[in-house]
Amino acid sequence: MKHRFRIEKSHLKITAKSTIRKTVEFIRNTVIEPPYLLMDKAKVRQKVHDIGKHIMHAEVFYAVKANPDIEVLKLVNSLGIGFEIASEGELNILASIGVSSARIITSNPVKSFRFLRMAAEAGIKYYSFDSEAEVLKLREYVPGASVYVRLSVPNEGSEWPLSKKFAVEVDEAEELLILAKKKGLNPVGITFHVGSQCTNIYNWNSALNKAKDLWERAEKAGIKLSLLNIGGGYPIRYTKDVVGISAIDKNINKLIYEKFPRKIRVLIEPGRAVVGDAGIFVTRVIGKASRGDEEWLSLDVGVFNGLMESVGGIKYTYIVEGSRETRKWTLAGPSCDSFDVIEKDVMLPEPSVGSYVLILSSGAYTISYASEFNGFSIPKTILI
Ligand SMILES: *Cc1c(COP(=O)(O)O)cnc(C)c1O
Repeated sequence: MKHRFRIEKSHLKITAKSTIRKTVEFIRNTVIEPPYLLMDKAKVRQKVHDIGKHIMHAEVFYAVKANPDIEVLKLVNSLGIGFEIASEGELNILASIGVSSARIITSNPVKSFRFLRMAAEAGIKYYSFDSEAEVLKLREYVPGASVYVRLSVPNEGSEWPLSKKFAVEVDEAEELLILAKKKGLNPVGITFHVGSQCTNIYNWNSALNKAKDLWERAEKAGIKLSLLNIGGGYPIRYTKDVVGISAIDKNINKLIYEKFPRKIRVLIEPGRAVVGDAGIFVTRVIGKASRGDEEWLSLDVGVFNGLMESVGGIKYTYIVEGSRETRKWTLAGPSCDSFDVIEKDVMLPEPSVGSYVLILSSGAYTISYASEFNGFSIPKTILI
């Protein structure tokens, strides 16, 4: 089937031309019915290459929860970086593709018993924590484990804050490191997360200042740290430009050089930035209606089967097969739940029922959140 997508200059500022070109080519040559998620392998490769390049001694661990598709994991694995995981499911899938435990760390501060048992058995060495309860669990399940404490840092300007759930202030973090040592664990460092989709470069400055403070206090308390895990948070382009990876990394590198001893290990855990802008959802308009003074478009992908983050405020860019004039739409998913509204007041060309809609930058936190609620299947992921 011929498809005529309205590709504008503004779209090319969000997603690489080559990714869009490959997507359109795939659609033209396939009989597979939407919805599905296309992942551009070249883009993932490029992002893995870029992240951490400007940070001395950086070791990169892909945060699996962003996109745990097995083919994506195989691709990332082939690029030689490590993995950050939180659960037995993530451990199992990595084991199934032959990733050795030496390349896996876990930075979830609260781990399930089953996961701890399996992680210990697999030989995973690095764990995060932010409570006394977790120290006691780690002592029981992974005696001698190397641990880093999760420090609370500002999450302002990140579109998906993560600081409310985890992390402790400097005083408590220091006490926890001391406790960990007392309980026979090996306190090696500090971790933090500036918040996901962090568009504010200064979050890393505040975070590293706080980490330096804690680092020095730990040292005075007789704990020699050697590892700084700066988490994830690198932003991608959804509807507008964001600060680039190399600018963020050069800033981080300079700050680490100024504030920390030489030759520390620096761990990075990017999720969104590795896979987000490599992904394009191929969806189809399945309904059109005027309701009150709103024009509604229903797509075959919605909040429950892929676009969960729209509920938290992530807005996407859409490429539509449609007429030249744009109109204002309310975009909804396919399910019968009134919560299943992707976005309101979206200006888009008018498509027909059956037209294709491409959703850009949808490779991260989409399929990994998706459920089969109401019987709508989770779109399959295809690497291109
Ligand atoms: C989710 C998560 C990440 C990845 O964050 P992004 O914002 O997707 O880069 C990294 N580390 C931890 C501990 C996380 O929970």
